[in-house]
Amino acid sequence: MEPRDRRTCQRCGARYDWKRSTTTSLKMTYCSTLCEKGALGFTLDTVLQGMRILRREWQPLLAA
Ligand SMILES: [Zn+2]
Repeated sequence: MEPRDRRTCQRCGARYDWKRSTTTSLKMTYCSTLCEKGALGFTLDTVLQGMRILRREWQPLLAA
């Protein structure tokens, strides 16, 4: 039987241990940020980070 932490990367088809995946958002789907970025054109990490930064920038506006 397959160990549960073994995943097949949706982009390159590599078998990988999802706990070692370098992507933080899509560990179960892609083996690395390179594959995540290659498949999506961006990484969810950058998008989420961008949203966090935006929110921080908006805070003074919202508080005013
Ligand atoms: Zn991959």
